Amino acid sequence: MQQVTILGATGSIGKSTIDVLLRHPESFNVFALTANSNLELLLEQALLCNPKYVVVSDLSLFAKAQELFSQRSLNCEVLAGTDALEQVASDSEVDVVMAAIVGAAGLLPTLAAVKAGKKVLLANKEALVMSGDLFIQSANKHNAQLLPIDSEHNAIFQCLPADFTYGDLQGSGISNILLTGSGGPFLSMPLEELPKVRPEQACAHPNWSMGRKISVDSATMMNKGLEFIEARWLFGLQSDDIQVVLHPQSIIHSMVQYIDGSVIAQMGNPDMRTPIAHALAYPKRVESGVSALDFKQLADFSFTEPSKERYPNLDLAIQASNAGQYATTSLNAANEVVVETFLQGKINFTQIAEVNSECLQQIPSHALNSIEDVIACDKNARQIASDIIKNKSVTHMVGAN
Ligand code: NAD
Ligand code: MG
Repeated sequence: MQQVTILGATGSIGKSTIDVLLRHPESFNVFALTANSNLELLLEQALLCNPKYVVVSDLSLFAKAQELFSQRSLNCEVLAGTDALEQVASDSEVDVVMAAIVGAAGLLPTLAAVKAGKKVLLANKEALVMSGDLFIQSANKHNAQLLPIDSEHNAIFQCLPADFTYGDLQGSGISNILLTGSGGPFLSMPLEELPKVRPEQACAHPNWSMGRKISVDSATMMNKGLEFIEARWLFGLQSDDIQVVLHPQSIIHSMVQYIDGSVIAQMGNPDMRTPIAHALAYPKRVESGVSALDFKQLADFSFTEPSKERYPNLDLAIQASNAGQYATTSLNAANEVVVETFLQGKINFTQIAEVNSECLQQIPSHALNSIEDVIACDKNARQIASDIIKNKSVTHMVGAN
């Protein structure tokens, strides 16, 4: 029986994880569920999963959470605050940690799981983007098993040979990795209309149902940029090893191209329960609740190159990846700030990439040698991005012309 902690249980990935876990009560037991602020959903999930702990990361909600949980007959202890997230991620009773907090807030709890040598199912790509080498070194040092949840990286993992050595594509006869992306909801919108798109439009992904931040990142393709960086760290790739391909149908989740001309693709309906079930059961296979792919129902499969004009964020992320850790940490931080501002309706969609680019230009190259350095770099970039936004939002409010 595997004991599982779900960091970010109330989010899109968290909910899908619970759905898969509840299909296999003979194999998995929920140890802890964490949420930022959605107490009602956390309570509902606790009633279903019967965890030993629930954690509310927002400390100001502790008393309210205690009261809510005490009204129900539950054998679970309520904890609060960011230290408690780290505690349930690293507890000696835990075998598996699903890292599904969104954004930089997931860094320290995910690292706590890594340092405790857990099997870590990594959805929180921002944690790896922010701390790259330190994260991977820590996983190696503490024998943590990293399994990718991001559908593309899970697909690549499935298409690589079982004896793949980190960073050695040549040794496995691989020529390159094809990282696929749908292009998001604005794939064919005329470019001049992009500044006017509203947050609800950006969050309405044609194929995937996801949290709001990653939905906006998918619309700008910053998500693919973060995934480019994530793929480099997860598999030890050079920039040239990865080609980004637009595949609007989201049926192929990524591919590995071999030197003999073979291309191995992983396919499936776009439902995150597939990579979640794959990683939970790895190296076995278990039922996930995802319907079988019906090839008779599939229309065309198309593949194109993403346009730099439409998706400047993708290029920025690739440049940052080549510039080094300070750049990817800064870009991730700036992007979190600017996406949140866009979601509040305070800047235009196209200004997301503008702010990210201006922010990167203002930050000189510097080494990040510790997690403290990473956190300082993240904080500095957030401040710079906020300052840039202040100057922009005065004249470019959404709805104004
Ligand atoms: P979401 O917004 O639906 O859920 C986020 C979760 O994080 C919630 O449980 C929330 O309570 C928690 N959270 C938010 N802020 C927090 C904070 N400050 N401290 C502690 N907890 C906090 O997001 P999601 O779509 O489930 O995505 C989660 C992660 O998985 C992201 O990093 C995303 O990039 C990645 N991911 C998601 C998908 C998807 O299909 N949703 C696919 C691939 C990767
Ligand atoms: Mg993805």
